[in-house]
Amino acid sequence: MSLNLILLGPPGAGKGTQAQFLIEKFGIPQVSTGDMLRAAVAAGTEMGLKAKACMDAGDLVPDAVVVGIVKDRLQEADCAKGYILDGFPRTVAQADALASALAEGGQKIDAVVAFEVDKEALVSRLTGRRACTGCSAGYHVDYDPPKVDGVCDKCGAKLFQRDDDQEETIRKRLEVYDNQTAPLVGYYEKAGQLKRVDGMLPIDQVKQTVLDLLPGV
Ligand code: AMP
Repeated sequence: MSLNLILLGPPGAGKGTQAQFLIEKFGIPQVSTGDMLRAAVAAGTEMGLKAKACMDAGDLVPDAVVVGIVKDRLQEADCAKGYILDGFPRTVAQADALASALAEGGQKIDAVVAFEVDKEALVSRLTGRRACTGCSAGYHVDYDPPKVDGVCDKCGAKLFQRDDDQEETIRKRLEVYDNQTAPLVGYYEKAGQLKRVDGMLPIDQVKQTVLDLLPGV
C-alpha cells in the first residue's frame, strides 16, 4: 500500500508534530520543504543563500525553487511507498505543479489533512517554540518545557529558537499564509481530497482524529 499525504495549515498548526506520529505509524518519510531549505541554508549552497533572505523576511521562496527540490526528493527510493508533505504546497502554482508531476508518474495524493488553529494560539505556539541543535526534538517554553532551561532532555544538546520565530516575522508568515496558502483549502476541497482537523485539540486527540480520517487505514 502506498500513502501520499499533504499536511496543510498555517505555521504552528502542528504539522511537524503530527508528521512525527505518521512517520512511526506508516514508515513513510516526512518531506518538509522548510527543513530542506534550512539544510540548504546551513550548508551554505547558492540556493540556500538566496532562500535565506526570503525565509528571514517571512516571505515564500520562489515556486520554481521549491517545486524543483520537492520533485527531486519524491524520486528518492524511500518515497516509493508514500510520503508526508509538510509545508508544501504553499501556493496554487505549487499545487498545480505537484499534481502534474504526480500524474506523469501515474500517482496521486490520497488525502490532504488541513489543521485549523486560532491565530493568537499560533502566535503563542511559535514565539515559545524551541528545538534541539543536536537531535531536533521540539519543545515549548510554556507548554512543553525541558527539565533544564535551554537544554534538551533527550540528548543534552543546546536548544535554539528559529530566526523566523520572532513575533514580527511570525505575523508576516501568518499574513502570507492567509493570502497565498489558505486558498489551497478550497482547492483541495473542490478536488474532494480535503479532511479538516481541529488543531486546537490536545496533541493526542489531534493524532487520533488524523488517524481516523485517513483513507483505508
Ligand atoms: P516552515 O518550516 O514550513 O515554516 O518554512 C519556513 C520558511 O521556509 C517559510 O516561511 C518560507 O520562507 C520557506 N518555505 C518552506 N516551504 C515553502 C514552500 N512550499 N514554498 C515557499 N517557501 C517555503
